[in-house]
Amino acid sequence: MLLAKKTFVPLFAALSLGTSHAATDYLKVSPTQVITNAVPYVAMPLPLSDVRLTGGPLKNAQALDAEYLLKLDPDRMFFYLRQRAGLKPKAEEGYGGWDGAGRQLTGHIAGHYLSAISYMWAATGDQRFKDRVDYVVNEFKEVQDAQGDGYIGALMATAPRVRGTNNAAAGTNSAASGTNAPVRRRNNQALVDGKIRFEDLSRGVIQSGGFDLNGMWSPWYVEHKIFAGLRDAYRLTGNRTALDVEVKFAGWVDGILSPLTPEQIQRMLATEFGGMNEVMADLYADTGDPRWLKATGYFEHHAIIDPLAKRDDILGGKHGNTNIPKVLGDLMRYVYAGDKTDGDAARFFWDQVVYHHSFATGGHGHDEYFGPPDKLNNIVDGRDDESCNVYNMLKMTRVLFALHPDDKYAEFQERALFNHVLASIDPQDGRTCYMVPVGHGVTHEYQDMFESFTCCVGTGMENHALHGYGIYYESGDKLWVNFYTPSTASWKTAGATLNVQTDFPEGGYVSIKVSVPAKKNFTLALRRPSWAGDQFVVAVNGKLQRKLPPPGNYVEVNRTWKDGDTVELTLPKQLHKEALPDNPDRVALMWGPLVLAGDLGPEERRGRGRRAGGAEGTPVFVAADRPVADWVKMTAKDSGEFHTSGVGEPNDVRLVPFYRLPRRTYEIYWDLYTPEQWEKTSGALAIEQEKQHKLELATVGFAQPGEMQPERDYNEQGEDTQPDRVMGRAARRGTKWFSFDLPVDPAHPMSVVVTYYSDEWRRRTFDILADGQRIGQQVVEKGGAPHFFDAEYSVPADVVKGKQKVTIRFEATEGNEIAAVFGVRMIRADAAR
Ligand SMILES: [Zn+2]
Repeated sequence: MLLAKKTFVPLFAALSLGTSHAATDYLKVSPTQVITNAVPYVAMPLPLSDVRLTGGPLKNAQALDAEYLLKLDPDRMFFYLRQRAGLKPKAEEGYGGWDGAGRQLTGHIAGHYLSAISYMWAATGDQRFKDRVDYVVNEFKEVQDAQGDGYIGALMATAPRVRGTNNAAAGTNSAASGTNAPVRRRNNQALVDGKIRFEDLSRGVIQSGGFDLNGMWSPWYVEHKIFAGLRDAYRLTGNRTALDVEVKFAGWVDGILSPLTPEQIQRMLATEFGGMNEVMADLYADTGDPRWLKATGYFEHHAIIDPLAKRDDILGGKHGNTNIPKVLGDLMRYVYAGDKTDGDAARFFWDQVVYHHSFATGGHGHDEYFGPPDKLNNIVDGRDDESCNVYNMLKMTRVLFALHPDDKYAEFQERALFNHVLASIDPQDGRTCYMVPVGHGVTHEYQDMFESFTCCVGTGMENHALHGYGIYYESGDKLWVNFYTPSTASWKTAGATLNVQTDFPEGGYVSIKVSVPAKKNFTLALRRPSWAGDQFVVAVNGKLQRKLPPPGNYVEVNRTWKDGDTVELTLPKQLHKEALPDNPDRVALMWGPLVLAGDLGPEERRGRGRRAGGAEGTPVFVAADRPVADWVKMTAKDSGEFHTSGVGEPNDVRLVPFYRLPRRTYEIYWDLYTPEQWEKTSGALAIEQEKQHKLELATVGFAQPGEMQPERDYNEQGEDTQPDRVMGRAARRGTKWFSFDLPVDPAHPMSVVVTYYSDEWRRRTFDILADGQRIGQQVVEKGGAPHFFDAEYSVPADVVKGKQKVTIRFEATEGNEIAAVFGVRMIRADAAR
């Protein structure tokens, strides 16, 4: 609902702005903290419990998340945790997906959930969340007590591979756990209780790399989620048992890792470990026990932190969400203990990620990995922008602002929240996304919220409970307002309450009503975003403020406030484009801080035939030489909806703020051409279309993999294979084999033309067979800009002779996989092409 726009009454007397307020040094991060920070905070976010969202899209996301959290069943999350501890599960079955049985991230969801409901209790005051927090903490306590040695976990591991250790082989039970008879995976590899493999680790058995440590999938990453849940339950809800459980759990960690040499520790850290250093640092802050500060050292990953501290961007090729939490952990160590390397690494990392690796939405990474800095053009298509990463970047951003209240942190927070984070949740049913891609003709990666339980489902449930955190920061008699969203802020230090009403992000009018029991002098520092240019206005009780800082700064209004005083702002949003650093003609269209997404139709319908146009047939704009406001027009006044006008090839496009475009095929980055460039390109496209036309004339049969009916028509068969979809195009991939029966014309020589996409996550090699005879071997690997391409294999005449159809089979070669196959076409090889 749009607010009625107020008309400002200008007052000609300039107001003098008070600016000299000594900042209070905040020495403690939270009320629970017992140590004094080595590096004081300059400003502190108002506690989540003192901020209430009252409307707007962030509130909507929070409400959907709250609903979801109440639908989840904690007993199912504890199914395997209880089973591993020898306790009878309370639920009939556990949850599945990544939280399921076998070698999974089992147990991570219970941790994420405890964090999420702790945040949600603080954010809403709804007693149901507090009750759940207490219940979940007690479950953890029961599991821990049953384990007997402080351990909490439900991980399963592949059996040890190394000879010569005196530890458990498959099937040996560890003394403390009751139910770890090995279970068998589908491929008959024995699994053992992960606890055994942690004990191996303690004895110096370290098989580590990527996501596997001693046969477990990122075990410290999972334990970090449980630690973080307990910490948040203690910090946000005051549950003292949570702290006790955490301390015992940390004692177990110390017991496992203290025997290891520094060299062994570094080897272990080659496997993703989440933010274990962060929770150890926070535990030190909450207990004052130096043992936990020392324990942060078990997770100080020198191969990453040391170069970052020397301002060396070594992120290319590194896994995004493996590294953000560890840098955040080091940042917390810096805050509490003052290690300069930790602080330098974190600040440099944040700057590099935000300014040299991120897209316009605030997300980053391709297939979960960083590329080289400022090289985004070739990774804009495909699986971009994991939601966990943005969640963790926001956590780091809030801490950095507290240390150094700079607009740049607030700007990133606003951008990431109103673009990536809001687009990552379906505004109708609350499903959250793994990837939120930014390329051409892409779709959201919505998760099945009761089945998949991926990492991003876990951080998704936390993400939307935190929207009230970091809007308002306080320091002495100063309160920062970092972005504008309908909310109330109870600023207890000053005894003041702010009631913010706004139609932002789509509108630009903000009203802030101040409530104070008695007159009070303080400063409101109101952010003037870098995108708020000429018509930016601030008025206090209707009086215009004359002296305004340039965009990208704070307007400091110091006065003696009385009850009912009202500040009004207008935030003018301009249309502009934001190019990729390495391609000035590939741009996101921005409206103020909002990324405009182009609507390319329903999710399902894309991919049936490629439209003429740019990359993979999506529209392009012949407007490289013109300002955006010339060719992007608002459809109706105040609608927040736009369209391109007369520049789209082959068609103009409807544009809306990204978060308003769920469940559609969309485009974020657009290719721009001048008319001259377009003439050349469209000429090349016409040649390509002519080629395609001739190919179709030569076609005897065409099988479309990954679509049900066409696959039936061509008798699709296979083992360990699944459909896939890339850039809107259906495909099939597999780890063993799959095949299609295609008609042949024995009167002509036959060839098979197969379509692939260059952007496979890993190098793929596989064979192509025709009726059992190998007709080709294919390698598909990354290289250059991602693109679809055809490969042709000729079918020997003796295979075709006397037949009406031939089975074309794709078969993975030793230890590899078959790349996604987007089309299988049998053609007359002698046809004119
Ligand atoms: Zn994730």
